[in-house]
Formats: sequence, C-alpha cells, structure tokens
Amino acid sequence: MIFDKDIFFTKKFLDSDAIYVKLEKAGYIKQISSGLYAYLDPFNKLLKNICSQVCNIFSEYNFCQVNLPLLQDINLWKNSGRLDIYGSGLFTTGENNEFVINATNEEAIVNLADLLNIESHQLPFCAYQISERARNEIRPAYGLVRTKTFVLADCYAIVNSKTDAQKYTDIFKQVFQKISKKFNLPLHQAIHLGHENTFSVWSESQLNQSHPIVCKNCHSSFRGKEMLERCPICGSSEVERVIGAEIGDIATIKQLIKTKNINNTYIVFMGIGISRLIQLIAENKVHANGFDWDYFYAPYKAYIVASPARKSEAQKIYASLSGKMETIYDDRPTSIGAKLIDADLLGCPYKIIVGKNTSDDFVEIKRNNKTTKINSSLVLQYIQDNQ
Ligand SMILES: [Zn+2]
Repeated sequence: MIFDKDIFFTKKFLDSDAIYVKLEKAGYIKQISSGLYAYLDPFNKLLKNICSQVCNIFSEYNFCQVNLPLLQDINLWKNSGRLDIYGSGLFTTGENNEFVINATNEEAIVNLADLLNIESHQLPFCAYQISERARNEIRPAYGLVRTKTFVLADCYAIVNSKTDAQKYTDIFKQVFQKISKKFNLPLHQAIHLGHENTFSVWSESQLNQSHPIVCKNCHSSFRGKEMLERCPICGSSEVERVIGAEIGDIATIKQLIKTKNINNTYIVFMGIGISRLIQLIAENKVHANGFDWDYFYAPYKAYIVASPARKSEAQKIYASLSGKMETIYDDRPTSIGAKLIDADLLGCPYKIIVGKNTSDDFVEIKRNNKTTKINSSLVLQYIQDNQ
C-alpha cells in the first residue's frame, strides 16, 4: 500500500491504556458502540493471517470447512430445547421471528448432516467454520473479549459413541495446544467442576475477565464458583485464584435434535474466539511504542520510508516487494522520524530507511533493535532469507 495521506488513524498510546485501547489507538479497531467494533485494515490483515494458521491446524486433522447461513430456522432451536436456555442471548429476526441469527451451530450442523443423509456408519463427521457471529451480550466489556458480534472458529464432531466423544475431546485439546505453541501464547484448559468433559480455555491476562482456580503443584486449572480446598487431580492444598481471559471452550452434548439416520449421537464442540485470541496475542506482543508481531502473521511485513531526494529508489524497492509481501510505502509529507513512529505502532517487522545516512544504492533495514546496511537491490532477498 502507498500511504500518501493519513489512512491508518494511529496515535501514541499510554502504558496505562488497556490492550483494546492500545489496539484502537494503533489504528486496528474502532469502537462503534458498546460491544460493537469495526475492524480496520491492519486488523483485517492480522485476522486473515491468524485464521489461515488456525485452518492449517484444522487441516492436519481432516476437519471439513463449511459455511452455514447467518440465519437458522428457529424450529431447530425449539426442537433442541435450547431456545429457552439461550433466551434473550440470541438475536431473532424475520416477520414472525422465524429465524435465529447464528450464534453457535450445534443444531445447524446436525441438521446439515441429516440433509446430507449422513448415516451412522459414516460418522464421525467433523466440520468447522470461521465467521462473524452475533450474541445479544447484555454486558459487553474487555474490548474484543465480550462483544455483541465476534469472529468464531467453531468445530463440531458428530460421533455415535462415548469413546469417539472422548477421542474428539482429546483431539480438540490438542488443537488448543497447537494454537498455544504456534502463537507462543500460554493457553490452559480449565476443567468445569461438575461438568464432565467440559473445558474453558484461558490465558493469563490483565483483563481480569475470568478467575480460574489453579493448582500450584500440578498446574491443573478449574472453573467453578466455589473455591476449592484441594486440587481434585493431585490432592494438593496449594490452590489459588488467578486472573485471566477465556478464549474458547470444549464441550460434549448428547443428541440435540432427532435425525432421520443417526441415533445416539454426541456432538463434541470446540469454539475458538478468534477476535478474543487476537486481543490476547496483542497483550503478549505489545511494547511501549507499538506491537511486535511475529513475521508470519504480521499484517504488514515491511515499511518503507525515504528522504525526499531518494524517493525514486524507495519506489523501486516498493515495486520489488509488492505482490511478494504486504508492504507499506509511507510517502506522506512528514519526517522520517514521524513515519517510523507509525511503523512501530502498526508493528511492521521490517523497516526500510532510504535516508541521508546511507550513500547511494544503500539502505538501512531495521528489525527490532538491529540495523543492517544493504544494497537496495537486495532488500527482497534479505527479508526472504531472514523473515
Ligand atoms: Zn494439582
């Protein structure tokens, strides 16, 4: 992108700002009203890159990607008995409220399996989708963590034995471990006390949105209203409440709605709040002047700035990087210093300075605190070699 007028809406943030305020000041999101956020260009690119990594992990397990409609027949929810359970948490629409706006897909996925004439011997059937959802959240809070609309990756395994339900619960737990490793974000699986095979996935966070109970001895975590005296796993009395934020869950539900072909089904569910995940990654990747995204998911890989005398060289470098990696050429009529402040706020891994400090044909490339001088014709090669 050529940045010749202000299109990124950045401003310096304070150390004391909450992470979602920092994301807003860095030009990633804009709050529209309580619980509703617009995703701006940098956020959308981040979202796309992170979703693609999550899809890669899902592919390792042969989960099929589907896209179910935004509107679901309300009768599916009446038949499953969950319309009353979710109550006002669901948005409904239509002339006679005959539709539920997609908040979760257990009913819809079983209905789809039924319409596809999937029979018991074809199970397990495992499908996922990643899309925007709506939930009538009455107390939106914590930025992207509790909102009325959000991006969810939800995966459903329809199985017909308790053994397979356990198997998919374990697979889904592995998926969260892979996500944790991929984004270098410690994720923990809190056991729901009193609910078999139900887990909340959480991370340490200053947001103070959830308060899991953690065993200092075996590091197991638990979710429950009552404080535990002892850890149910190892028996240690060294248990404490910590502060964190939840990004997803795993649960098993016994047959929700009757189908033509499948009996005794269980649905194992895994939900990953992608917009929540991004905010938690951001919390781990923020520093005093901006973000320090890993190269593989950074929204923009390179940021070019130039002194007025060397614009044509900068344009050449931009042309060499365009189409190979997301690149910003900052051509605004302002100082290199001011431009680099924005490059930091946006979190571009590589900053290419075509300035006065280097003689013709040479440029500076900055990555973190390291500066390298190279020939301008080698910029693409250098980034590809180092990433
Ligand atoms: Zn323990």
